[in-house]
Amino acid sequence: MQIYWTNINKIIDETSEVKTYLLDCPEEFTWEEGSHTHFALEGFNAGEKPNRSLIRHMSISTLPHENSIGITTRIREQCSEFKTILRNLEVGTKVAIFKTHSNVPLKRVDKNVYLLSSGVGLATFRPLVLDYFERADNVNQIHSLNIDTSRDFLFTNIFKSIPDKKFISQFVDNRKDYYEEVKYLAADKDGLFYIVGSDEFLVQNMEVLRDQGIKPEQIMLDKHEKGLHELKSSVFTGQDNNLVNTK
Ligand SMILES: Cc1cc2nc3c(=O)[nH]c(=O)nc-3n(C[C@H](O)[C@H](O)[C@H](O)COP(=O)(O)OP(=O)(O)OC[C@H]3O[C@@H](n4cnc5c(N)ncnc54)[C@H](O)[C@@H]3O)c2cc1C
Repeated sequence: MQIYWTNINKIIDETSEVKTYLLDCPEEFTWEEGSHTHFALEGFNAGEKPNRSLIRHMSISTLPHENSIGITTRIREQCSEFKTILRNLEVGTKVAIFKTHSNVPLKRVDKNVYLLSSGVGLATFRPLVLDYFERADNVNQIHSLNIDTSRDFLFTNIFKSIPDKKFISQFVDNRKDYYEEVKYLAADKDGLFYIVGSDEFLVQNMEVLRDQGIKPEQIMLDKHEKGLHELKSSVFTGQDNNLVNTK
């Protein structure tokens, strides 16, 4: 496993609680849209075993041509040790990234794509949308729906509807409106539905989609094979799998 140590080159305050950390791209490091990585703070590998409290899974919110690796996260006042340290890091600090992989690249199979996300889950989709803007080949259209109860919606410069580009972006601030809209979107029986958020959010979305006749193979989650299978089968076949730590 290759660990890439790199520097924070910029910190962007997206909203009062959400920050994007832009990291220098190490040589030979590349990634595709929808990727997540292991983001680790100095000292994580100082002992015999890696210190898990200094490592988090994070999506990469940028594309390689932006020349920085973007990590977007919410840091609440009450937060973990990881985020307490992260909050105080400055430009120039070294951080590590490793085991980078995309479970949710943009499928170019001539379908309508629906991006369903909660809060900073939108960060996973930012590169998919940028990739689509650059090259719309074999993607009919993209519709993004994000729920953020804080109402501090993210990336609004990119996530705004552009009819000419067949891109629709919707933000809602409550569950009722959100799930009504998901139901409405599921009227497209041939669409592809990407979902990013907590496991509870994934399950609730899949239940709504299932009830509207959407099939498991039309649903894309940011999960490895085992976790993906367990979560989908819990919704579509009623199997009671252990849903904790399935990523
Ligand atoms: C594939 C994948 C991709 C991911 N991508 C991203 C991403 O792009 N961005 C992202 O932010 N996360 C992402 N995550 C989730 C991420 O890994 C973390 O699990 C998440 O950010 C929570 O971080 P944390 O554990 O440091 O907790 P926090 O965010 O600090 O806290 C989680 C919750 O616990 C509460 N809490 C924490 N500590 C305390 C305390 N001492 N007292 C009271 N309440 C407390 C907080 O208020 C909050 O509600 C991803 C996960 C996976 C699996």
